[in-house]
Amino acid sequence: MQIAQHKAVTINYTLTNDKGEVLDTSDDGDPLAYIHGASALISGLESALEGKGAGDSLKVSIKPEDAYGMRDDSMQRVVPKEAFGGEVELEVGMVFQSSGEQGPKMIMVTAIDGDDVTVDGNHPLAGEQLNFDVEVVGVRDATTEELEHGHIHGPGGHEH
Ligand code: ZN
Repeated sequence: MQIAQHKAVTINYTLTNDKGEVLDTSDDGDPLAYIHGASALISGLESALEGKGAGDSLKVSIKPEDAYGMRDDSMQRVVPKEAFGGEVELEVGMVFQSSGEQGPKMIMVTAIDGDDVTVDGNHPLAGEQLNFDVEVVGVRDATTEELEHGHIHGPGGHEH
């Protein structure tokens, strides 16, 4: 069976950036299960997997435009410390959910200078070329229930 729209696909993958650093991997025995064609994966990776079958391996490099987009410097801004309330001890790397005009989005604290806190709404992988090393473990039809839920049930997917 080949990977196509609404197939339940299980993959093992290793994701590296252009410096060869491993950003993410399923090599700890935890394969990823997803519904193909439901935008579960970044578009460049889904296109590369189209038509592949169980046992196939592929390496694919995905440009930022087909991954998490280019960095947008206007999404980085400096806000006063008071904006976070006095409750939390701010640290670089902390992630907050902010309610923007286009719905909730994640922002990360990237610098703290006295009362000035720099926050960045870019995805941490924005602007990065992503190199995937993928092995297709299994392909089957997604069940009606899985399609309704928008995720796979069982190993690698949701348990409920
Ligand atoms: Zn479910």
